[in-house]
Amino acid sequence: MGSGDLLVIHELWMDQERLDTLVIAGPLGSDARRLAGAGKQLAWSVDANSHFEAMTEYYVFRNRGAFETSHDWDLTSYDVNGLRTRLDVSFLPPGVQSGAVIDGAEALWPLAEAAHAVTALDDTGNRILGLDVRDYDVDGTFFEISWADVSESDDPPSAAIASLTRSDIPGDWILITWTRQPNPRGGQTYCDWCHSNLRDASVERSVALGLVREYSWACDQCLSAGEYVNTPDGWGGDVWPFA
Ligand SMILES: [Zn+2]
Repeated sequence: MGSGDLLVIHELWMDQERLDTLVIAGPLGSDARRLAGAGKQLAWSVDANSHFEAMTEYYVFRNRGAFETSHDWDLTSYDVNGLRTRLDVSFLPPGVQSGAVIDGAEALWPLAEAAHAVTALDDTGNRILGLDVRDYDVDGTFFEISWADVSESDDPPSAAIASLTRSDIPGDWILITWTRQPNPRGGQTYCDWCHSNLRDASVERSVALGLVREYSWACDQCLSAGEYVNTPDGWGGDVWPFA
């Protein structure tokens, strides 16, 4: 695998009966992870760029022989060919990435997937600036109108998603404009769970997991022990999304 491939973190959780659940790390895996119940333990994690690759590594880890699949989509890389040379959306979860249509430096999603894309962009430490609506003719020409400018909003993702629920949207494609959040850590140098020092690698890992959205950062040890699924002290929300 080349170093430019998109890697998605997968985690193996064991429930109290020691049964395995292999999930995508972070909020995307929350529903599946919750099924493992209280007392679950993080047994292992692996970075992979397809479902097939994750399962293959998992089979090796558990000495189960070779993983085989009859689903072609299992083999599909999480990378989308060619995206990287234009607009890099490789930091997005695979489902959101594959729905994107990249037009030069702009990214569009089908209307039905746009809210999910907004959430994923926000989850990965980006600031949503605005939405445009595009409507294509059969010959490929299109008109585009500015739909929502949320750059001054207190809660840009919610404002953007609310604008998508209007019934008078004049097209089927949503162009999302965003910018990377500058230094979301605000200078924090310690782990939110054990207060030990963060390293660049654990900060990157925390961003990849989506912890950045909760302004939370975990050290290597708390990440590998699965400690981050517990609500950190002083967190101000209702339900910790990584539980
Ligand atoms: Zn820690």
